[in-house]
Amino acid sequence: MDLQAVVDDIASALSERRGEGKVADYIPQLAKVDPKQFAITITTVDGQVFSAGDAETPFSIQSISKVFMLTLALGQAGETVWKRVGREPSGTAFNSIVQLEQEHGIPRNPFINAGAIVICDIVLGSYKPKEAIGEYVRFMRYLADDDMLTIDRAVAMSETATGSRNTALANFMRSFGNLHHDVAHVLGVYFHQCALAMTTRQLSRAGLFLAAQGADPISGYSVVSASRARRINALMLTCGHYDGSGDFAFHVGLPGKSGVGGGILAVAPGKASIAVWSPGLNKVGNSALGTLALEMLTNQTGWSVFGA
Ligand code: GLN
Repeated sequence: MDLQAVVDDIASALSERRGEGKVADYIPQLAKVDPKQFAITITTVDGQVFSAGDAETPFSIQSISKVFMLTLALGQAGETVWKRVGREPSGTAFNSIVQLEQEHGIPRNPFINAGAIVICDIVLGSYKPKEAIGEYVRFMRYLADDDMLTIDRAVAMSETATGSRNTALANFMRSFGNLHHDVAHVLGVYFHQCALAMTTRQLSRAGLFLAAQGADPISGYSVVSASRARRINALMLTCGHYDGSGDFAFHVGLPGKSGVGGGILAVAPGKASIAVWSPGLNKVGNSALGTLALEMLTNQTGWSVFGA
C-alpha cells in the first residue's frame, strides 16, 4: 500500500475544508491559532514515516498528554491507580463535574479532566511538582526521540489564569479525599503537561509503542508490557473522545485520544501510530477535520480494529 499517496490524498481532499469547526477559545492562547492548518503523519511499526500538510508545525497537545501521563502513573503506582480512577466511558463533556458527586470523587476514567487531575496527583506521590514536569518532558522526548520538545509556557500560563473549572474539579475531589497534594501543585503539573507543543511527526513517533505491543520498535526498548499497551489502547477506544467516543469508534474504528488543541493520536495495533491536527473542533471538542481524516484513512487502509 502506498501510504504517502494515502496521506497526500487525504490532505488534498480536505484542503477546501480547512478552517471548519471552532477553535477552542476558553484558553485564550489557543484562540490565537490559525484555524486553517492541517497535518497528518503516519509512523509505521517498521519505522517508515509518511506526512502531509503542516507536519512540522508544533501545536498544543492538550488532552492527548493524558495518555502519556497515565503511562507514567501506571509505571509508578501500578494497578493501584484503578482504586482512584475508573475505566468507564463518561458520556459527558471533558470538563464535566456531574458524575463526581454520585461516584464519591472517583472520576469515571483517566482521560476526562477530573481523571487526569487525579493521575497528576498520583505522579506527585513520587516527585516534587517541578520534578514531575521534568520527568514528563524527559519521557516525551525519549518517546518522540527528539530532545527539542518543549512546553509552551504561554499556553500553560493562559490556562492557569482561566482554569476555574479545573480548580473546581480538583477541590471537589479533594473534599472526597481523592486528591492528596496541594491543588495548586497538582494543577501546575496538569496545565504544563497539556501545554506540551509537538508536531504530528513527533506525536506519531511518541505513540508508536502503543501500536507495537508496548515496545519501541525502532530502538527495541520496552516502554510498557504488551498487556499494559493493550489496556491503554482499550481505554483510548472507549474513553478517548469524551462523549464523542462512540461516534469516533463508529466512524474511525481505532483507539484514539483527542485534545482541544485540535490534535488526535490514533493507534492501529500492529501497523502504525497516526497523528492528525487541525485546530477547528466539532461540538464535543474533538478536531473536526482530524476526525474526518482518520475516517478516510481507515476506509482506505482497512486498519479499523473492527475489520476492513
Ligand atoms: N487543558 C485542557 C483543559 O483542561 C484540556 C482539555 C482537552 O484537551 N479536552 O481544559
